[in-house]
Amino acid sequence: MIIVMKSNSTENDIQEISKVLVNLGLGVHISKGSEKTIIGVIGDKRKLSDVPLELMNGVEKLVPIVESYKLASKTFQPKPSIIDVGGVKIGGKELVIMAGPCAVESREQILASAEAVKKAGAQFLRGGAFKPRTSPYAFQGLEEEGLKLLKEAKEATGLLIISEVTSERAVEIADKYVDMFQVGARNVQNFQLLREIGRSKKPVLFKRGPSTTIDEWLNAAEYIMSEGNYNVVLCERGIRTFETATRNTLDISAVPVVKSLSHLPIIVDPSHAAGKAQYILPLSKAAIAAGADGLIIEVHPNPKCALSDAAQQLPPEDFNNLCKDIGRIADIIGREFHYAG
Ligand code: PEP
Ligand code: MN
Repeated sequence: MIIVMKSNSTENDIQEISKVLVNLGLGVHISKGSEKTIIGVIGDKRKLSDVPLELMNGVEKLVPIVESYKLASKTFQPKPSIIDVGGVKIGGKELVIMAGPCAVESREQILASAEAVKKAGAQFLRGGAFKPRTSPYAFQGLEEEGLKLLKEAKEATGLLIISEVTSERAVEIADKYVDMFQVGARNVQNFQLLREIGRSKKPVLFKRGPSTTIDEWLNAAEYIMSEGNYNVVLCERGIRTFETATRNTLDISAVPVVKSLSHLPIIVDPSHAAGKAQYILPLSKAAIAAGADGLIIEVHPNPKCALSDAAQQLPPEDFNNLCKDIGRIADIIGREFHYAG
């Protein structure tokens, strides 16, 4: 349930209501808009059965939340969230681009990738160190060694670092090296892992699973938020459909649908959606035009030799051209992206 306060309610009114809720053992989430303040009530609302909240000073109305997720819902917080990662704001006017190889493979490879994506204007370097591969015999990632190389690339370029965590052990290790955790599609409903990430305050890029509905995805995001970590950015990365021409089908409608249901920022990963380098540019442009807050794109200095996802990684020149086009689209739709190439 949310409590909508009157536009002339005072700070004291808000504090009085919060006190009543806290004394009943309920959680309180205050969202201040330009006109009105909304107080979100977290917990069992039966505890409120004897409390005439609607009669308290400053209260305009009580509104039940119909969705099973609350903290992630737009009813709970109508104002879009802006997630600050090391000074880069995701969900604001500026578009954010994360780019780099599928996996960290070597010092030369990650440093060359970092230089290339920085040169085009990306704000984040991506690179998997814990790789969730379909086959147990495929390259599984360099683990902590890979994270150390990412940190070295950060020191060389100033890029922020994002890398996937696949287990509670990986969270513990990666915490020392990365600016943002990535939860991959395969772990979207690994609730134990989500709770662990929720107990950390580090921002997290939370990918949609190939078979999760938007409702299941937002409920899964709620697992992270319900532990206290509100720094969640969603990522649409394609879903499994009957189509086989692409690796997955990019659900472009997820962008406006999520924006209508949640205050959380959403970015798009066209690389894992398409699975083929030739489709990354048009899908990226479509995602930004549809309102996505940014992109995460696989870029490799020599895609043909990549140890994972070779078919979908862009060489630096193509990524550079993509950033140029994103800069142009940003101008048209009233957003910003500083193409640096
Ligand atoms: C990745 O980003 O390298 C990855 C494995 O993506 P996804 O979880 O979307 O498959
Ligand atoms: Mn990949």
